Amino acid sequence: MSDTVKYLLPDEQIPKTWYNLMADLPTPPPPPLHPATKQPIGPDDLAPLFPEALIMQEVSPEREIEIPAPVREIYQQWRPSPLFRARRLEKALDTPAKIYYKYEGVSPAGSHKPNTAVPQAFYNSEAGIKKISTETGAGQWGSALAFAGALFGIDIQVFMVSVSFHQKPYRRALMETYGASCVASPSMETNVGREILAKTPDSTGSLGIAISEAVEIAATNDDTKYALGSVLNHVLLHQTIVGQEAMQQLEMAGDYPDIIVGCTGGGSNFAGIVFPFLGEQLRGGKKVDILAIEPAACPSLTKGQYAYDFGDTGHLTPLVKMHTLGSTFIPPALHAGGLRYHGMAPLVSHVKDLGLIDARAYKQVEVFEAGVQFARAEGIVPAPEANHAVKGAIDEALKCKQNGQSKTILFNLCGHGHFDMQAYSDYFAGKLTDRSYDESELAMALAGLPSAAAA
Ligand SMILES: *Cc1c(COP(=O)(O)O)cnc(C)c1O
Repeated sequence: MSDTVKYLLPDEQIPKTWYNLMADLPTPPPPPLHPATKQPIGPDDLAPLFPEALIMQEVSPEREIEIPAPVREIYQQWRPSPLFRARRLEKALDTPAKIYYKYEGVSPAGSHKPNTAVPQAFYNSEAGIKKISTETGAGQWGSALAFAGALFGIDIQVFMVSVSFHQKPYRRALMETYGASCVASPSMETNVGREILAKTPDSTGSLGIAISEAVEIAATNDDTKYALGSVLNHVLLHQTIVGQEAMQQLEMAGDYPDIIVGCTGGGSNFAGIVFPFLGEQLRGGKKVDILAIEPAACPSLTKGQYAYDFGDTGHLTPLVKMHTLGSTFIPPALHAGGLRYHGMAPLVSHVKDLGLIDARAYKQVEVFEAGVQFARAEGIVPAPEANHAVKGAIDEALKCKQNGQSKTILFNLCGHGHFDMQAYSDYFAGKLTDRSYDESELAMALAGLPSAAAA
């Protein structure tokens, strides 16, 4: 049998709808609250930031939501994305387990992010919006939205977390190639940024700070909306195209996963591959072991509290109930910039709280070791974020070897690492360290969580 096994679907088999987990949950997640009144927010509260179509998706109870035809046409450029059986990795690990991975690095921007950037730009364009502000960690989301903005003639302004802005200069060049503008965050362009720089001139930035800057721009400019690349229900919804395709492809392979693994920053690529299978399970289908992998330096699911908190550092967002390290917590610099967020998607937090998924944290050096092993077997160089999922899948496969079990493992290879080669160079030079967070800073950030009792 050939070494490379690739499961492709014909273009016309791109799913016609996104899958909404909300329809199958045993209990709904707690609602977002207005920070002043502590009452559930309504669609009107979100109207300054998002077009109505996306707000409706944010609160929709419908199981299936139609993917607009223009979005499906654009998706066809790289979707359905391939599902691979990692036979050479299986051999290298000498495991009886079967390992499959869904490869999202085939998108123009190199990750899963265009799956939501394209519909978000589409709905903004339908609403007549000409400009969108956003944040980006490692630059993956900024480049995805820059690409989508170019397709729909929308100006994109990106606040890029300072540490990544300096670590990954080519990501900025990519955004500029697509026509977007990109500044390091914290910046002098917003009140939030100026305040933080006054207190901490050498701030490395964080996703929480960059979100505040982008939200401030949208909230104070009538012609500008805001877009988020993760966390929100509608973002997770758009990513479910990944899991739905994987389900069809595994059917072609005559298989069904026992274990699904994804990395979690804000939770969107994880939800994308997991939620369609979790929905099957909740409707009486097969029980699947689901594993979220996060960095030990920013461990919201494993070390955070499940509590109401702000989504940003400047406290401009609603309060959402999520696993959080505290909105003032600034995680140490790490190369998986996309995983450096203090909170977690409310929907992912909710299913974690219900005991439907497990979480595990890994250190930076061990995930690069796994990524290099994967690249040498499979040829694809994963993004540093994706290395967390790779390590999770490898560890599960090694457990199968120990126990003599031939389980089927599926993981999301959510992006390639071609813009992250400095991180690999640092790893080979022995310069990558396992920086851990400051315990007292975390305790302080958690002590500062807002009280969520209704006023
Ligand atoms: C943005 C990003 C992440 C983290 O975001 P999620 O919403 O948790 O998926 C992970 N991997 C890659 C490649 C990314 O671009």
